[in-house]
Amino acid sequence: MLRWSLKLVCYEYDIKYRPGKGIGNADALSRWTSVNAAEARGMGSLADVLLLEEPPSGLNLDAAKIAAETKKDPVLQKVLFHVLHGWTGKNTDPTLQPYWTRREALSHNKECLLWCNRVIIPASLQQQVLKVLHAPHVGIVQTKAYARGYVWWVGMDARIEATVTVCELCQAVRNNPPRDPHTWILPDKPWSRVHVDFARPFQGKTFL
Ligand SMILES: [Zn+2]
Repeated sequence: MLRWSLKLVCYEYDIKYRPGKGIGNADALSRWTSVNAAEARGMGSLADVLLLEEPPSGLNLDAAKIAAETKKDPVLQKVLFHVLHGWTGKNTDPTLQPYWTRREALSHNKECLLWCNRVIIPASLQQQVLKVLHAPHVGIVQTKAYARGYVWWVGMDARIEATVTVCELCQAVRNNPPRDPHTWILPDKPWSRVHVDFARPFQGKTFL
């Protein structure tokens, strides 16, 4: 149960009790087995950490570079200390609050900090990562979804929104909904195919 709570900590969810007699089939929760010890501790396997294993194309970053910048980041150094040595019962440092609230799902891998399976990007690298996330120019929602598979930092969503909102290419995509990809085969001669649709209101009636 602890393992599942750690996996789901990134989501908002409600838990509903269902008696065993009401469940006819075997459920995943009761059959789920730990792949390795790291996963059992809620740290996520390396394969889950996409940024470290399969970074997006165009992102000239690797774990060593992120680890080096993490070491220079004073806030992340405090976070790493607490991840290694434990958190206090109550946080009094405002800069640590976003991390304290996520403390159950924070871990480290290759000397990089992780929130669930997302690498926490130090401030010095955020602009570089943001540029790659934004490169496809797919608008706010899809850029955020793309980011969620790889990275997180405090205020990341707001940075994405601010960047995309002023981007002409992203706005052009937003204002042009995707066209219907269906194309009709051209008929050989006139009236060989007739399309009909509803037409209304016309003189108070609907016509087919
Ligand atoms: Zn854009």
